[in-house]
Amino acid sequence: MVGEGVKPVILDTLEKLRDEVASRPGGMSVGFVPTMGWLHEGHLSLVRRARRENDRVIVSIFVNPTQFGPNEDLSSYPRDLSRDAALLADVGADDVFFPTPDMMYPAGYRTVVKVEDLSDLLCGKSRPTHFQGVATVVTKLVSLVRPDRMYMGEKDFQQVVILERMLADLNFSTRIVRCPLVRESDGLAMSSRNLYLSPEERQRALCLHEALQLAAADFIAGARDPGPVIDRMREHIQTRGGDIDYVELVDPITLTPAKILAEDTRAVLAVRIGKTRLIDNRRLG
Ligand code: AMP
Repeated sequence: MVGEGVKPVILDTLEKLRDEVASRPGGMSVGFVPTMGWLHEGHLSLVRRARRENDRVIVSIFVNPTQFGPNEDLSSYPRDLSRDAALLADVGADDVFFPTPDMMYPAGYRTVVKVEDLSDLLCGKSRPTHFQGVATVVTKLVSLVRPDRMYMGEKDFQQVVILERMLADLNFSTRIVRCPLVRESDGLAMSSRNLYLSPEERQRALCLHEALQLAAADFIAGARDPGPVIDRMREHIQTRGGDIDYVELVDPITLTPAKILAEDTRAVLAVRIGKTRLIDNRRLG
């Protein structure tokens, strides 16, 4: 039954969060899972892992306005704290940090964090302020929550690469634990935004995963030149009616186009299905 476990404590003011931090006994390990809520099995897999590896588990739920562009889905993004809290009870989260935009961005707010170069590639081309918003809010969350480990999904591959760089650059002691991408049984990457898809779009959305599988199959069959592999992926997506933002085969550290394909090359893509922009990725090898 959903929500049968012990309900997590909702920390909905900065004071409550600061009290929680101050009350931690020395040596207590803290795992942190930042999210935007409307939780699904992808998120819950991160919380379960954090539960296994830490004494205390804190999840944040915050639909961060600064990572949305002017014409994006900030106002329609799904929100339901009681639904999320019931799911978190089942996986044993201790606390949910649930701030308001005013707490995170008080009147007169003027500070940003930007990870140069990496933020301008891939998703950064069509969402020019997105990763600055992400880096800024995660800097603030890590400073407030002070976790030992932060659990993040490889669903958002570029995000995790950027945030690892940022934590190292800013001398945070928090380490990122990368967790595998969780898919629906038919291959669609789990995402809160899948909610927007009509049944017909939900079927078409499989083209993202299928294109990634094509790339992996080409690599296993001996393909080493990125060009023809990308062409085949693009053709598959377009045939299925997907509107391509980007399809690339990249180095997993620099995120720049691979010159020759290798086991650790990442196939990464962003595609619009109707009005919904979806992302997906996989390692070729
Ligand atoms: P979000 O709520 O979309 O900001 O995601 C919060 C965290 O959950 C991020 O670290 C995501 O990468 C991770 N996440 C979202 N979807 C998945 C998924 N399908 N598999 C694994 N992790 C995911």
